[in-house]
Amino acid sequence: MDIAKIRNDFPILKRKVNGNNFIYLDNAATSQKPNLVIDSISDYYKNYNSNIHRGVHTVSQEATDAYENARIKIQKHFNVKNSYEVILTSGTTHSINLVANGFLEILNENDEIIISGLEHHSNIVPWQMMAEKNGAKIKIIPINENGELDMKVYDSILSNKTKLVFVNHVSNALGTVNPIKKIIDKAHKLGAAVLVDGAQASAHFKTDLQKLNVDFYTTSAHKLCGPTGIGMLFGKEKWLKKMPPYQGGGEMISDVTFEKTTYADLPHKFEAGTPNVCGAIAFGVALDYLNDIGFEVIENYENSLLKYATEKLKSISKLKIYGESKDKTSVISFNVKGIHAYDIGTLLDKFGIAVRTGQHCAQPVMDHFGISGTVRVSFSFYNTKEEIDKLYDSLNRVLSMLG
Ligand SMILES: *Cc1c(COP(=O)(O)O)cnc(C)c1O
Repeated sequence: MDIAKIRNDFPILKRKVNGNNFIYLDNAATSQKPNLVIDSISDYYKNYNSNIHRGVHTVSQEATDAYENARIKIQKHFNVKNSYEVILTSGTTHSINLVANGFLEILNENDEIIISGLEHHSNIVPWQMMAEKNGAKIKIIPINENGELDMKVYDSILSNKTKLVFVNHVSNALGTVNPIKKIIDKAHKLGAAVLVDGAQASAHFKTDLQKLNVDFYTTSAHKLCGPTGIGMLFGKEKWLKKMPPYQGGGEMISDVTFEKTTYADLPHKFEAGTPNVCGAIAFGVALDYLNDIGFEVIENYENSLLKYATEKLKSISKLKIYGESKDKTSVISFNVKGIHAYDIGTLLDKFGIAVRTGQHCAQPVMDHFGISGTVRVSFSFYNTKEEIDKLYDSLNRVLSMLG
């Protein structure tokens, strides 16, 4: 992997922060964008901006083709059977709310849903809102000391009352890769559907959704070098047909009178209003960019960064890493005894190093460990060992300042 060439693709990596070279280690929150993606956005607005699907004119047709072509790129990348099973949403949060709204009508009072204890808040709140309305019960798969799901408990709470299981593919707080194939197969044996939140996974490895046989899968483009405000929801055709539309508006209807409206076919039934056309196009460009580098190359490189950084950080006394699953992506969540995570983050910023501090939208995970938050460093394929050395040195300076 030509790391110098790759870094050259990301203009932001050249900037300074507080007089230092910018070191971006907050990739689990959002990724940086390569020139190809940035340029595709300005190209769209400079050359073929138009509303889509409705126009007879040339430029509208070009924009429509580019938008639909992006859907096909996403379909191919995730190996989805039919392109109309790919719904373009504003991101993972939107996708999950869309499914929760669908299951509001599908579930009844005695039905149960299972949520993993490793979830992002965006994956907890919509189900609580749904359960308050339809009376469904929520059960939780707890996590163990390594930050892995306790599969024995999963087996014991899964029953024929379970209608839906929600789990993230990779935890954003700890980096744990969850055994989703096992979770899906077990749920299917009892007739339950499974929604997997792939927002954190999709930046690090490729997932074949047909092989996984998952019912729903979602991601956000901004986690994988694309822009914010665009993402996808994959849903199996049978589920998307069963679920009511989430929002009413233009694009999602086929026939409207004041007596009755009939809905458009998939995928447009779930894409009310003018969509994020240029976002979708740039999402497709981001997938092309990553696939050109190759996900195996990305995964191997990021694993080597993870291993290198884990060993270095562990050599710091009083530093504790949370989440040490054997199977994890390049995320390290840690605390240093006696020092507040926020203070570490603030001082690292003075050295130009961007890390995340706090609960990482996963308060239940923090509660499990009895802590109020962590410092989280998360690596991408454009990070380097030299940056990790700089993190290590700066962290030691910060700790001697604070300690
Ligand atoms: C980032 C993230 C989300 C939320 O994604 P949005 O783009 O903010 O909707 C949900 N789940 C996980 C695991 C994430 O990493």
